[in-house]
Amino acid sequence: MSKMEKLEKIYKNLKEEKTLVLLKPDAVKRGLIGEIIKRFENSGLKIIGLQMVKPTRNLLDKHYPKTKEWVENLGNNFIKTCEEYKIKVDLKKDFNVNNVYELGLKVREWLLDYMCSGPIIKIAIKGPNAVEIVRKLVGTTLPFKSPPGTIRGDFSIDNPIIANLEKRAIQNLIHASGNKEEAKYELNLWFKKNELIDYN
Ligand code: GDP
Ligand code: MG
Repeated sequence: MSKMEKLEKIYKNLKEEKTLVLLKPDAVKRGLIGEIIKRFENSGLKIIGLQMVKPTRNLLDKHYPKTKEWVENLGNNFIKTCEEYKIKVDLKKDFNVNNVYELGLKVREWLLDYMCSGPIIKIAIKGPNAVEIVRKLVGTTLPFKSPPGTIRGDFSIDNPIIANLEKRAIQNLIHASGNKEEAKYELNLWFKKNELIDYN
């Protein structure tokens, strides 16, 4: 492949890049739909699909990965938070699980409960670097650490210690695909081909 052909391929991928956003039940219940969508529109990215849905647990179970790596990461987040507060976790005694994976599965179940607890808004967004730009606008997973100017930083204050002890997922308003592979899989899961409407 020549340099020009390589550049053209990158150009085409940039022009076609898409990502999935879900406004979680707390965003809908708090009346933040417009406020949040406005930020994506302001960025210059293009909304090419949008609908309110009450997802089934089965759909959410397909949405969130079940890989060892992803589930263990959820478990490790939990432990990291406890360590920040100098709390030593005894997995068996404190949570009745045998390992980090099982702890991650618990958090994953809370996440499914949360996502099923009310209507959500699914949004397909298109534009160059859509995945990265949307993540930047959304902010970091932990709302109290997410900087001002980000959606999570401006509109949520949830803290993992509070969430973990209340046996629920961190309420952080939004899901956004973490990378291009996730985006492709998730868009395919949430939208039919004819529900994505492109325009100039
Ligand atoms: P995201 O991509 O920033 O949404 O974060 P992840 O993909 O790592 O986690 C998915 C979701 O699980 C997050 O958005 C939170 O709602 C929830 N979550 C993540 N880590 C924790 C945790 O340590 N404790 C609890 N209770 N929930 C968590
Ligand atoms: Mg994620």
